[in-house]
Amino acid sequence: VLVLKQQSIRRQVMVMAGLLLLPIVGGIALSANRARLDRQEAVRSETVSLALIAAAHIDESLKSLDVMASNLRRHPAVLALDTPACNQLFAALLREQPLLSNVMLVHPNGAVRGSVLPADGGERSRPWFREVLETRKTAIGGFDLDAVSRKPTVTWAYPIEDASSTLVGVLGLTVDVSRLQAVFAEIPLPDHSVVTVFDQTGRILARSAEQEKFVGVRTALTTPRNAERIDVDGMRRINGDASIRRAPWLLSVGMPGSVGPRFRSFRTRMIVMVLGVVAVSLWFAFWLARIMSRDLDYLRLAAERIAAGDLSPLLPRQLANRELSRLQETFVAMAANISETRNALDRQVEQERKMNEALQSLQRQVVRQERLAAVGSLASGVAHELNNPLQAIVGVAQLLERRHGLPPEALQDVAFVQKQSSRAREVIRNLSRFSSQDLEPSVALDLRDVVKAALSFRQQALERLPVTLSVEMTTSKKVYANFAELEQVIVNLLINAQQALETKTSGPWRIDVRLFDVGRKVRLEILDNGAGVSPEDEPKLFQPFFTTKPVGRGAGLGLSVGYGIVHSYGGTIGYAGNEWGGATFFFELPAVDGDGQESDEAVALRTSV
Ligand code: ADP
Repeated sequence: VLVLKQQSIRRQVMVMAGLLLLPIVGGIALSANRARLDRQEAVRSETVSLALIAAAHIDESLKSLDVMASNLRRHPAVLALDTPACNQLFAALLREQPLLSNVMLVHPNGAVRGSVLPADGGERSRPWFREVLETRKTAIGGFDLDAVSRKPTVTWAYPIEDASSTLVGVLGLTVDVSRLQAVFAEIPLPDHSVVTVFDQTGRILARSAEQEKFVGVRTALTTPRNAERIDVDGMRRINGDASIRRAPWLLSVGMPGSVGPRFRSFRTRMIVMVLGVVAVSLWFAFWLARIMSRDLDYLRLAAERIAAGDLSPLLPRQLANRELSRLQETFVAMAANISETRNALDRQVEQERKMNEALQSLQRQVVRQERLAAVGSLASGVAHELNNPLQAIVGVAQLLERRHGLPPEALQDVAFVQKQSSRAREVIRNLSRFSSQDLEPSVALDLRDVVKAALSFRQQALERLPVTLSVEMTTSKKVYANFAELEQVIVNLLINAQQALETKTSGPWRIDVRLFDVGRKVRLEILDNGAGVSPEDEPKLFQPFFTTKPVGRGAGLGLSVGYGIVHSYGGTIGYAGNEWGGATFFFELPAVDGDGQESDEAVALRTSV
């Protein structure tokens, strides 16, 4: 069993089928053998009864000889040993009784006193004579071949005694044994059957077939004789024996038994059937084992595929039985479950990544704002400190200008000092705006008006470029701010957009201005299709004095001032890329409630800045 357990399913099924078939085939073989024995028994009893019948027939024929002999022994011509009368009598008898081939009367001195056939050969050819002489009883002579007709003969010899019981002669009735064969013809026998008569020495006296060949042949008589034996003609037969009462003979009827044609065809049919059953069973077992192992291989491959991480859905197919189909369903469900779990994990990882990014960007924003706040307070301090000396310089320059008698060169220098000082004052004013130190009075205003004003301010400059300007304003809410300051922020954004476009050699040039509500805020976006901002510049955009423009073109204050202004009204300002590859600058300001008051949110933000 242990060895069988390690084998493939194919071998297991084949071995099982073989083991199952063994008792079946054995049983069939046993019952076939039983049937053969039964048939042999039936044949044997048939042969025995046929042999009894044939023996009775022969006895009947021999009985007439006895009757004839007892009549002759009382016949006066015989008792008188009258040769002419005897010869006549014997010839008449021979014509009557076909079984007889000769009748002979012999004087006790050996002289033949009567015979149908010419008597020759002398006393030696008549061994029965001496036997009767000695025993004074009926004797049966041995097998003999008639000198003239070469027919097999046997002679019955009787003592002849007169009234005083003196032996007067010996009577011999010679029987043509071949005539006995006529008796066999009356017995119905199957093909290849044979009836044989043996004498006490085993010599064949008569036979129902091939007499010329076998009559006179001596066979070995074995007692008890086997029912089934090989006959003189070499054929195997089942024999039934019967002894004949009036002679020491044995009659046997032989019939072909086991090798009979009927049995042979039965046996052939049986063998073909058994072989057919075995072949069909083995083929079926093999087929079952084959489809089972094929399906199991298929499922194993599917499992290996899943184990290797391939979770693409399994194509279900028709399998050999319900158990395997269930296993397949389980595989399909398992693959689906694993795939679903993996997708959920992927989604979670992706979500976490996005959250992480958002967190990092928030962190960066906080750091940037902190830094801007620090820069703002520094700038306001510097501005404050510079403002007083600058006021003094401007005051002195104005006094000098008014003074009479100054040479024209000196006046020119004073004008230069005044001009540069007012530039310096402008820078200081902007710096203090960035740090929201220098607040102008605020009112509730419609951002649409501010945008319109800024656009009309830049209209001429924009018309110089073949730029497509599209303006879309959907807001209806107001914001709380200073008109001029917001106008400055928007104008600066428009200038930046235009300058970004000017670096582009080929069109089309586009600027989009969008103003809309986002919840309780109003949002302005200015988009261009310029070159955009490089990632490494992005964190520095709102720092004061950050610029990528050549000297004289940009001071790097525009966006930082915008940042200061928007934040001072509780708003946010920022940058994003857009689908054209250019820049989108935006700011959001809290909307004012219906009564024209700042919203709570705006106040809170404003006080916190
Ligand atoms: P300035 O315009 O004087 O350089 P800003 O503060 O207005 O100062 O701008 C700072 C920098 O931001 C600019 O030098 C430029 O590099 C970048 N920038 C601003 N607006 C845009 C824009 N629309 N497209 C590309 N870069 C821009």
